[in-house]
Amino acid sequence: MQNRHYKNFKTVVYIPAQVAESFTPQKLAGDYDFIEKYIGLDKVYLETHRDRHDVSEEQIKWVKEFLEEKGVTVSGGITTTIHDFEGAKAGKRRIFETFCYTDPAMRERIKAISEYTAKLFDEVILDDFYFTNCTCESCIREKGDRDWVEFRKDLMEDVSRNLIVGPARAVNPGVRMVIKYPNWRESYHFTGYRPDTQDDIFDATYIGTETRSPAYADQHLPEYLSYSLVRFMENAWPGRNGGGWFDPYQCWCADRYLEQAYLTAFAGAGELMHFQWSDIVDNYFVGAMGMQLKKIDKLLEGIGKPVGIPAYIPHASSGENHLEMRLGMIGIPVEATPVWPIDSDRVFITESAAYDDDIIDRLVSFVEGGGDAIITSGFLRIKGDELRAAGLTESYVSDRKLAVTRYHVTGDDAGYIDHRTPILFPEIVHGNNASWSLLNGGDGDYHTSLFLRSAYGRGRLYIMAVPDNYADLYRMPRSATDVYKRAMNPLLYASGSNFSMFTYDDGSLILYRYVKGDVRPAHVRLSSLNKTEGFKDAVSGELIPAVPVTIYEDFEKKTYYTADVVLPPGVFRKYTAEP
Ligand SMILES: [Zn+2]
Repeated sequence: MQNRHYKNFKTVVYIPAQVAESFTPQKLAGDYDFIEKYIGLDKVYLETHRDRHDVSEEQIKWVKEFLEEKGVTVSGGITTTIHDFEGAKAGKRRIFETFCYTDPAMRERIKAISEYTAKLFDEVILDDFYFTNCTCESCIREKGDRDWVEFRKDLMEDVSRNLIVGPARAVNPGVRMVIKYPNWRESYHFTGYRPDTQDDIFDATYIGTETRSPAYADQHLPEYLSYSLVRFMENAWPGRNGGGWFDPYQCWCADRYLEQAYLTAFAGAGELMHFQWSDIVDNYFVGAMGMQLKKIDKLLEGIGKPVGIPAYIPHASSGENHLEMRLGMIGIPVEATPVWPIDSDRVFITESAAYDDDIIDRLVSFVEGGGDAIITSGFLRIKGDELRAAGLTESYVSDRKLAVTRYHVTGDDAGYIDHRTPILFPEIVHGNNASWSLLNGGDGDYHTSLFLRSAYGRGRLYIMAVPDNYADLYRMPRSATDVYKRAMNPLLYASGSNFSMFTYDDGSLILYRYVKGDVRPAHVRLSSLNKTEGFKDAVSGELIPAVPVTIYEDFEKKTYYTADVVLPPGVFRKYTAEP
């Protein structure tokens, strides 16, 4: 079906129950005019229930009719929160008023809400309060010998099948049931969110891409999450991720708000969900949104599929959370995936991968077969014994830390960088000449390897020392992080920090510099191993010529074709390498 406003995505707005309840015909018409004028409205999710709010059938019906007459697609929404009510047992131990799913009265209630909503709509989405953290006596009793993770997995599978999807299908066999997952992937399994077992219950998924204030948000959200989680869900449920969902909260400037939408769109999300109706009406952020979406729509025309180094993050795992997104923040294109990337020639592994019982076997055959695996110091710390027993490395992480003020790019005759602000790294101890350090970090008369290479079979294992504060990656010298970048994508890398590079399988790339920190233009240096005349700006047609630069690294000489792009903050640019 032809989208009404943009070719590459739909513009969608969420209408929570309390807003749906408050509409008068006049108010709805005025709000609609604003949204249609500034961003263009393709679709809404109209909520029937949230907390104390239950919207009457009569109210839902006229709001739906009004919007449908305007050509807007109207789907349903449910937020699975509720206050204590008569008949439900008191003393629930839960935050955000999520349901206690072992309470018979609450179970009846959620079932009734699902049936009611499915009767009114052919598509229903669950907002991301569909988790359980209840630790009441009844939940403890039902948990029995299981731990909370196992118990909640089973509980939410039962609730999903028997109280949400089953009853919805019984009243509306064609209803499409959508589960929206929150922006806290690393904690899903603690609260019953299981994309690995819920994928054959629900028809589709949706993903939270709100990153708000990365410095202050509860969930530690690097900006790159807005891209990375869309990719993760796309790889988890191929072809079934409906869209990305963001909001204006803790976005203290318009650019911070807009960046969430840019990255969601760059990741290929089919719907851009603006949460929520009354927060975006009369919001000046939204004025800019429409203008920028038009540009992005043009940029994405005919673009290929997003690609990047696979970051293997199994379902129901945590550890070194968001580290792969931090790499995205220094210009490394990362493809987060819960699926082991058998077709890739390289993979990035963090502590989270230790949750996969087969990870060592996978790594051995991957590397032996010719793959390059980049593992972190955290993964080495957890899996060191098994990695050493398998013969992949002799190195280990000691108990010491180094406050690194000095870097040495070992292949570069002039690769010495001194007098930097200290960054705390773990010490990786390795066997001299059993493995080779491509990057050292030190202070005084001592140093440690920050990036170590071992060979095994036809491939290589790289070990990356991860700073104690992940955000310190942004403060490392660019020639130091270039060492990581060349290992992660030897064909093309971009030097600099506080920007992202999004790469696509048609050879095009998008650069975006964040509006944060040093808010001024900066150079991003593109380096291509394939000979190129230069990089052509897809919009202006300007060609930035590339010059050959020879690099000596890991006993190998390589010639890169490099070009400097001036990248102002808040501006996205699309380039293709000219042959
Ligand atoms: Zn409970």
